Amino acid sequence: MTEQSLQEEPLVVRGKLEIPYKQFVGSVASKFLIEIRDNKKIFGMRCPECNRVYVPSRSICPKCMCRMDEWVEVSDRGTVLTYTVVNYKEPTHPVEPPFVYGIIQLDGADTGIVHFIAGVDPEELKVGLRVQAVFKAERQGSMLDIKHFKPL
Ligand SMILES: [Zn+2]
Repeated sequence: MTEQSLQEEPLVVRGKLEIPYKQFVGSVASKFLIEIRDNKKIFGMRCPECNRVYVPSRSICPKCMCRMDEWVEVSDRGTVLTYTVVNYKEPTHPVEPPFVYGIIQLDGADTGIVHFIAGVDPEELKVGLRVQAVFKAERQGSMLDIKHFKPL
């Protein structure tokens, strides 16, 4: 094998890493998660230019590229924008399959959050389904402090 053929046919090895880590989530995400943890309240940020309310909260409006600093409490109830039923197991999934991931637009928000939808027969799932957050009894400051969303 020549040096030239090695350069033309690079070998790529694929694998998976599972690495424990911790990171500071930033001041905006900290307040967002602390309100869920301590008060079971969900807050978004309103853009001063386009007036959109972003949930989860974020500091910069991706549409206007301006800084946001107005906190807005939104409802723990919302509408399913889309969903999928997950039937396979992955180490990164926090629950056992089958389960449902959905994008839920909370009342008062202009964006959707990704979360679990439970307590509903997959046959009854539909876009437009009204749902409500179910908070865990013991919360630790993560999106998983919301256990899932259930139908209203
Ligand atoms: Zn904006």
